[in-house]
Amino acid sequence: MEAQNRLLVILGAGESGVGAAILAKAKGWRVFVSDGANIKPSFQQELNEQHIAFESGSHDLSRILCADLIIKSPGIPETAAIMQAVREKGIHVVSEIEFAGYYSKAKHICISGSNGKTTTTMWCYHMLKKAGLNVGLAGNVGQSFAKQVATEHFDYYVLELSSFQLDDMFTLKADIAILTNITPDHLDRYAYQMQNYVNAKFRILQNQGAADYFIYNADDAIITAQLEQVQTSAQLVPFSIQTPQLNGGYADQQQLYININKQQLTMSIHELALKGKHNTQNALAAGIAARLVEIRTDIVRESLEDFVNVEHRMEFVAKVNGIEFINDSKATNINAAWFALESMEKPTVWIVGGVDKGNDYSELLDLVSQKVKAIVCLGLDNQKIIEAYKDKVEVIVEAKSAHEAVSFAYQLAKNDDTVLLSPACASFDLFSSYEDRGQQFKQAVRML
Ligand code: ADP
Repeated sequence: MEAQNRLLVILGAGESGVGAAILAKAKGWRVFVSDGANIKPSFQQELNEQHIAFESGSHDLSRILCADLIIKSPGIPETAAIMQAVREKGIHVVSEIEFAGYYSKAKHICISGSNGKTTTTMWCYHMLKKAGLNVGLAGNVGQSFAKQVATEHFDYYVLELSSFQLDDMFTLKADIAILTNITPDHLDRYAYQMQNYVNAKFRILQNQGAADYFIYNADDAIITAQLEQVQTSAQLVPFSIQTPQLNGGYADQQQLYININKQQLTMSIHELALKGKHNTQNALAAGIAARLVEIRTDIVRESLEDFVNVEHRMEFVAKVNGIEFINDSKATNINAAWFALESMEKPTVWIVGGVDKGNDYSELLDLVSQKVKAIVCLGLDNQKIIEAYKDKVEVIVEAKSAHEAVSFAYQLAKNDDTVLLSPACASFDLFSSYEDRGQQFKQAVRML
């Protein structure tokens, strides 16, 4: 994309906005960064060092509306006043990922889905790194894609893409796209229309051609139905934990199989680094991508065995008096909590609750009956949870802090039980973020 001294305005000065500003400056754009909230001092410093103009805590509309192109932070909804003014003026708006894509010559492995994005992205990155490829990690995880395009020379990028990043993505092509699953999430940003959200997710394959691959979860009815509706010339590579796949991935109760490029990789699922059916799906998706870039099967197998997961996802914290504590604070929706409960092998004290994004708790009734011996609610308003499970679980108590929740759970659990924090909700009522919630939980466990 030709800069020719044109004006690029960046709305939102977080990791992605600041990265985009650095890339744009390097490519000859005039750049102005505007953030309605206060910009973190470290980002302000970075912008100052690069001599990039910015405003913090307000939006100068007249200046913003002079833009030739706008990059919007994924956190800013279309309903924000600033976006309505921008749309009215008809200025083209792109995401940081799209903008970085204008200047990236690397191969892009793009990963989206309602759950499992970060785990699959990190796992895939781990495989490419282990194989010695010159690979970068970006998108929703790690450093900004744009900043890396400005400063690094990677041959491959593994990119985690949220639906908000996909919304403003138009020309970026995924050489390999992965869609882990689609379940209701963020519907408030999609006019409460599931189809809008599905469409956003499917933008991941929008520019793919016959040389590209689309790896998808064949057990996901929403994905397979949508796939029948869209036109794509990409090569389809399914994975499943229900039906064997001749070209793709499959796992039964014992073995995992990846059939790519006429070679089969098999291994026992008990050797996978991460447990639970959801992680078997993530392993299949990441393993297929690695095989499609022709990483040797022995390296893929080794990487499937020795990967260390990111914090707050089914993370083992400690065993105290025979009681195992697991931190799954990142489970902020029902589907993620479903997989967490499904993978429980011992009687479980479940810590659940927070800011409900429109949860249907009945989806977990069967699992709760089978696996949960007591519930500790950890939220300001727990009424929906109590109503949903009061007939299924004998003991339901309410806690107002991580410390209180851990101490109640510890009293309720016995030797050989598991205490699982998998809240199915956002964290903002009692914590600053899911990371904060997970940290406080772990700290409380360590103090037992
Ligand atoms: P995302 O980046 O999409 O939020 P993460 O890998 O961070 O996904 O995991 C978020 C939550 O979802 C965690 O609680 C994790 O245990 C759970 N999870 C991970 N992979 C899957 C999957 N394939 N299906 C459903 N839940 C998953």
